[in-house]
Amino acid sequence: MLKEKIKSLAQELKEEVISNRRHLHANPELSYQEFETANFVKQKLEEIGIHKIESKATTGWTALIEGKNPKKKVIALRADMDALPIVEANEVSYKSQKEGVMHACGHDAHTASLLGAAKILHQVRDQFEGTIKLLFQPGEEVAPGGASFMIKDGALENPKPAGIIGQHVMPFIPAGKVGFRQGIYMASADELYLTVKGKGGHGAMPETLIDPVLIASHLIVAMQQVISRASSPKVPSVLSFGRVEALGATNVIPNEVKIQGTFRTLNEEWRATAHKKMLQLAHGLVESMGGELDFEIRKGYPFLQNDPELTARATDAAKEYLGEENVVDLDIWMAAEDFAYYSQEIDGCFYRLGTRNEAKGIVSGVHTPTFDIEEDALEIGAGLMAWLAVSELEKA
Ligand SMILES: [Zn+2]
Ligand SMILES: [Zn+2]
Repeated sequence: MLKEKIKSLAQELKEEVISNRRHLHANPELSYQEFETANFVKQKLEEIGIHKIESKATTGWTALIEGKNPKKKVIALRADMDALPIVEANEVSYKSQKEGVMHACGHDAHTASLLGAAKILHQVRDQFEGTIKLLFQPGEEVAPGGASFMIKDGALENPKPAGIIGQHVMPFIPAGKVGFRQGIYMASADELYLTVKGKGGHGAMPETLIDPVLIASHLIVAMQQVISRASSPKVPSVLSFGRVEALGATNVIPNEVKIQGTFRTLNEEWRATAHKKMLQLAHGLVESMGGELDFEIRKGYPFLQNDPELTARATDAAKEYLGEENVVDLDIWMAAEDFAYYSQEIDGCFYRLGTRNEAKGIVSGVHTPTFDIEEDALEIGAGLMAWLAVSELEKA
């Protein structure tokens, strides 16, 4: 049976997947600079015997694994390859050898898992019908997102996949388990940059000044009403300001105040409306208080929607592979992920691979200097991805 075959291949390959992950972990590269990583991936694909490889988005690849009747249906599997500007604090044999760069989001695990899945799928290619398209993408961590460049470069064409499946590590789920969610899952994320301009001077003479600090204070409070009053309580939204810079002194009012924040939600229509309302309110308020405002909204990734049918089929397939008890439901997650671009073009399913191991102290969140994964999870990381792809080719 194909499932058992995939399971035993995943078991055989486990050490290789771990060693690939460790190599990538020790040699991280920042977004859009994944040159060595891309070379490593290509070399591994060629070693497997996969030769239909195309360069995409400078440091990305697509590759095809053709089964019998390759035109019947195409399913895509995606991995991201970039690391983060973080100094690794883990003392492990595979610690980052590049000071200040770290695979702290698990993209090393995603890439190694997809290489493992590729090797499995190549070995069983006479046992499925259709084609599996692999996407190794750059730049997930930095807007506008490597996925958008992959799409512009034709990664979803020739052949066009019917659906795409992506996997991401999750340090809050124990290793051995995976998580799925149908429908809305992750948020859009936009960066807000505001500069409130007034007229600075001596703090003892406010009547001669336009105080940008007071205006900015009102602005921060007033903007929350867009979230609390203008948005439907049924649509999750969050507005957070994490940086406020007023470089005056106890007795000096500065000329300007800079504010930076993030706006996230799960509905594209409301996202556009909220942008308008925030701009309108902020400009009106600042001008009514005599100041001037520069307000830039830098649009980030769209919200991520998992296609309900594809995700339901993938969830069932995961239950067949891992047992019902090892497949959990995911809650909405207000972080953003550029996989969302793919899921706006074709049916998408973005699921989570549990990588937590409390006994070993592997509990840190992604994007922290102590993030690590329970590597036993990589057997599932490779095997389940391969299984999800072939089951999806069989179904529908
Ligand atoms: Zn990340
Ligand atoms: Zn990530």
